[in-house]
Amino acid sequence: MSGHFALLNRLRDGSGMFDFISEEIRKIEAGVRGEDRLVDRLNELRLSGEFRFFSDVCLELGDWKVQIDCLVVTDRCCIVLESKNISGRLYFNEELDEFYKEENGVETPISNPYFQLMRHIRFMKEFLRTTLPQIKVTGAVIMTAKSCRIMQKPTHYPIFKLESMIERVTQMYNSAGETSFSDEELDVVEKFLLEGRSAFVYPPLCEHYRISPGEIRPGVECPGCGVLGMRRVYTTWNCRACGKNDRYAHISAVRDYFWIIDKKITNKEFRRFCMIDSKYAASRMLNSMDLIAHGSGPSRYFKENKKK
Ligand SMILES: [Zn+2]
Repeated sequence: MSGHFALLNRLRDGSGMFDFISEEIRKIEAGVRGEDRLVDRLNELRLSGEFRFFSDVCLELGDWKVQIDCLVVTDRCCIVLESKNISGRLYFNEELDEFYKEENGVETPISNPYFQLMRHIRFMKEFLRTTLPQIKVTGAVIMTAKSCRIMQKPTHYPIFKLESMIERVTQMYNSAGETSFSDEELDVVEKFLLEGRSAFVYPPLCEHYRISPGEIRPGVECPGCGVLGMRRVYTTWNCRACGKNDRYAHISAVRDYFWIIDKKITNKEFRRFCMIDSKYAASRMLNSMDLIAHGSGPSRYFKENKKK
């Protein structure tokens, strides 16, 4: 999310992507609000057996990466819950596999959340195959918007509104059969989930949205007034707009660079992005930051230190 704000801030004036990225931010914020509502409601869940739930679960199996909104791991089954915060009148056409919303007379097609749910259920079956292969994996899409009306209800897709979620989850649990896993087995699954989750790395936003790095404004941002393009004066950064000095202002510029442009930075790229001339000053700054250096000579590059 912070990366998206940094991207918006650094898009060149007149960039055709500005409205698109603002809309992406709006959607991400709506998504987060929806997930929060889902988790809040899940606190009301009571089942006859042991269970635990995890929100915003990022996992990977080789190249297969997923981000699951919520996982309820119970002593009978594992339930994937996907939250969709979409307001308006919603239509699911199962015959054509289409999903769209209608608001003020305008129909907007939306990617069908049922298929995302199915992918995540398949993923979880595969993910748990080595730890707890007997566990049944099921799930549902939960519509979390306060003002959404499902006009054409899907008969086969498990898509429900937030207010009925607790009942639906309870039904899924009750119909999962009598197999009961022990607390120890659930502990193993929990540990496995927590170990697998930190590895998720987002691609740089320019790559994700196919934005040319030329559309990104370089420069060190003033922490006082927000203007880009502080000047390096001896061992500090100076803002021409407000006069503020800051020795470490380049650190957030490098963080922006990793979010937006590339996961690694060379001395040359650092100088271009932070707009400084001296290779030696650049080298000193890069080496004194909390980064991991790879290689030597001109091809030497730095990456984020993920072990923090
Ligand atoms: Zn300033």
